[in-house]
Amino acid sequence: DPRLEAISAAIRVVPNFPKKGIMFQDITTLLLDHKAFKHTIDIFVDRYKDMQISVVAGVEARGFLFGPSIALAIGAKFIPLRKPGKLPGKVISESYELEYGHDRLEMHVGAVEPRERVIIIDDLVATGGTLSAAMSLLESQGAEVVECACVIGLPEVKGQHKLKGKPLYVLVEPS
Ligand code: 5GP
Repeated sequence: DPRLEAISAAIRVVPNFPKKGIMFQDITTLLLDHKAFKHTIDIFVDRYKDMQISVVAGVEARGFLFGPSIALAIGAKFIPLRKPGKLPGKVISESYELEYGHDRLEMHVGAVEPRERVIIIDDLVATGGTLSAAMSLLESQGAEVVECACVIGLPEVKGQHKLKGKPLYVLVEPS
């Protein structure tokens, strides 16, 4: 798909951010490139439009930049999965490991119904820890996670293409 080259080219790599040794994949430059941004959304929409998906769940914060556009185009609702303490209603919580320490994702109780078919979206998958926590939140409410989708997949998960036995769909790998 020639669109993938345009997407790859629009992602800026920033060395040593947020700390030394990290090659940060910056998707803000993808958002500045209308064509590449549209290609990104279009590819996801083409993939999911006929899969009876009723929920797109996005991971804070960068999953919020892609998820709602996909949800609107495929006729699904959007659920924000947020960092701790941000959601005002009753929440369920799931912890996950970071390189140092841990973090949590939260979802409003009642946002998803049992047996709803969900895709989870984020900008980037590295270890898969964040997406695994997101899956646990949705599955705890009886939803069916059909697939996790990311714009970028780091080589850590390359070749795996699965998360907790579920498919993982990524558009590009870092160049
Ligand atoms: P994981 O849990 O798979 O190890 O890490 C994925 C999470 O870290 C995602 O929520 C993603 O936004 C964030 N992340 C880690 N490294 C990068 C990076 O280089 N660029 C961007 N845009 N996000 C990153």
